[in-house]
Amino acid sequence: MTQEKKLVILGSGPAGYSAGIYAARAGLDPVLITGLEMGGQLTTTTEVDNFPGYPEGVDGPKMMVELQQQAERFGTDVRIGFINKVEFSKKIGGMHKAYAEGGQEIEAQTIIISTGATAKYLGLPSEQRLRGGGVSACAVCDGFFYKGQEVAIVGGGDTAAEEATYLANICSKVTMLVRRDQMRASKAMQHRVNQASNIDLRYNSEIEEVLGTISPKGVEGVRVRNVQTGSTSVINCKGLFVAIGHAPASELVKGKLDLHLGGYVVTKENSTETSVPGVFAAGDITDYKYRQAVTSAGMGCMAALDAEKWLAEKK
Ligand code: FAD
Ligand code: NAP
Repeated sequence: MTQEKKLVILGSGPAGYSAGIYAARAGLDPVLITGLEMGGQLTTTTEVDNFPGYPEGVDGPKMMVELQQQAERFGTDVRIGFINKVEFSKKIGGMHKAYAEGGQEIEAQTIIISTGATAKYLGLPSEQRLRGGGVSACAVCDGFFYKGQEVAIVGGGDTAAEEATYLANICSKVTMLVRRDQMRASKAMQHRVNQASNIDLRYNSEIEEVLGTISPKGVEGVRVRNVQTGSTSVINCKGLFVAIGHAPASELVKGKLDLHLGGYVVTKENSTETSVPGVFAAGDITDYKYRQAVTSAGMGCMAALDAEKWLAEKK
């Protein structure tokens, strides 16, 4: 049976739950569909040290359960499920539709898309084994754990360049591994990398294997192959940061909302409004730049306020 709602939120990460908190408090009776990864990306990590309000840091899955409880306290209807199709109304004020995996259909006046993004990895078995134990895709999240130590970073785009310079301020040495003979990053970012005295920039370098121990989990180094000469060498490091791009979870809205930069949902300036009236986007799905829990939560709040205002104006 079709259900009609004022607001449906897609995603149960910091953006989705924060949208739920604000929307429920504003009386929008939101329904939140969790997706397959209930709690979002932070459920895949242990320590979250930089989310405000936790002076001792917090366990990622615990923090997400608390966010869920907070959203539910105000009446957000959190439903376990996955949306596999959406249809956006072309008529301003028309109903948008979200179809859940089991065939259930929800109609809503507004929708917040907060389906997040996932970091790309190299795909090496050794990298997979050491993820969360020396291999990370977020320098801002995990760089601090390697304070004063040697780390490596792989990638040659703006993200890798930005993260390399961030790490250079914390770590004793950063080896930056770029697979081609040039970086993809902007000239300005490349300049910043070149200015840092403790970044050792190596072109034509591909990682063959991440070296380390499983128990306790820890990285000891990376074996790197020079793609021009074929020679291999080992670089000692305690952490490996993978910065080869992210994949926003926007397959659902491809062809229906304006996307850019490889799939991020475009929002209007200083707003969470997308290219379709009544559809808003928040968190990593729209944010190629900051990709933090706190910024996602902030955008979730903005999206709920934008949806509330939109509904009020429509009335
Ligand atoms: P996500 O957390 O990615 O959540 C997306 C949600 O959308 C999920 O619940 C998913 O199930 C749902 N979804 C996807 N598709 C659908 C669909 N079709 N229908 C319904 N739901 C759907 N940030 C920090 O600030 N500090 C840290 O210490 C930190 N550590 C991190 C450690 C790791 C290992 C990782 C991977 C990330 C870390 N981050 C950290 C980044 C942070 O997790 C993200 O910035 C944040 O989770 C983004 O929130 P979000 O709500 O936009 O999306
Ligand atoms: P990106 O621009 O797609 O760059 C990815 C980098 O990783 C490239 O150097 C790529 O190499 C490399 N790479 C990809 N797969 C690899 C693999 N398997 N092994 C080794 N290296 C691999 O991604 P991004 O840096 O995350 O940036 C995404 C977008 O956000 C870009 O448009 C960027 O400009 C923007 N951004 C902007 C800022 C800013 O303005 N401050 C900050 C961050 C990001 P190749 O070049 O050989 O393909």
